[in-house]
Formats: sequence, structure tokens, C-alpha cells
Amino acid sequence: MLILSSPLYGQIEQEGVRAYPGECCGAMIGLDVPQADGSVRRVVERLKPLTNSFEKEEQYHRFRLDPLEYIQVEKEAGAAGKLVLGFYHSHPDCPAKPSEYDRHHAWPYYSYAIVSILKGEPADMTSWLLNETTEQFSQEEITRQT
Ligand SMILES: [Zn+2]
Repeated sequence: MLILSSPLYGQIEQEGVRAYPGECCGAMIGLDVPQADGSVRRVVERLKPLTNSFEKEEQYHRFRLDPLEYIQVEKEAGAAGKLVLGFYHSHPDCPAKPSEYDRHHAWPYYSYAIVSILKGEPADMTSWLLNETTEQFSQEEITRQT
């Protein structure tokens, strides 16, 4: 389960709105908190906007993290005793469902949050985890905490 506070949830939506009709992307940093029942609450504490390294005209419906930025964000999180829990990006005028491109470029472990931006307004947000064996995404619940 991915836990996002209302301000962080709103921040992802607003980055998507600002990037529209292009895609925003960024990293979610925080901690995995194991629960007594064996489940894990994945608590996001902050967001790090990243550069979509595709050219502007290619940004529609795909994003790619800049590898150097990715290394930097992992370093920063580690130095603060935190984890990079996953990545978010927006889908302009498309549903909040991962594309084939997203699936092919996903890594196991990380949460992939997708916010749908329809006609410039935030719509659904979903999160996905890649199953290492089947290489398919399964949906992860997002809890928006007030
Ligand atoms: Zn996508």
C-alpha cells in the first residue's frame, strides 16, 4: 500500500497539470514500514521532480529518467536514511493505466504512480508494481492521508 499525504498527492497532480500536454515525472522518497500482519506500508515523505529526458515532441505518453539524476536521487535518499520507493509520471489525456512502454521500462520493487491529466485537469491516480516473475503490473492501493 502506497501512503501519500494530501499535500504530496496534490503536488503530483499539480506537476502533471504544469507539464500538460507533456508528461511530468519524479521520484517518491520515504520509508517502507512493516506492519504486524506482515504487510508493508510504503510511506512517501517527499517528492523529487525529475527531468523527462525525451525531447518535448516525444514526451507524449512516455517518459525516461535521466540516469545521472536517478543516481543522484538514490544517493540523496540514502544519505538521509531514506529509500527511493518509486516513481510517478503523468498521462496527458490518457487513463491512469501503464502503457506497454511503461511496463517494458519498469523495474521490480519500485512503485509506479500514474496520474491522468484530462484536458489539463487532474483525474485518477493509480500505482503499480511489476511482478518480477510474470513481468506484468499489478495495481497497488493508494491511501491518501489527510
Ligand atoms: Zn506512462
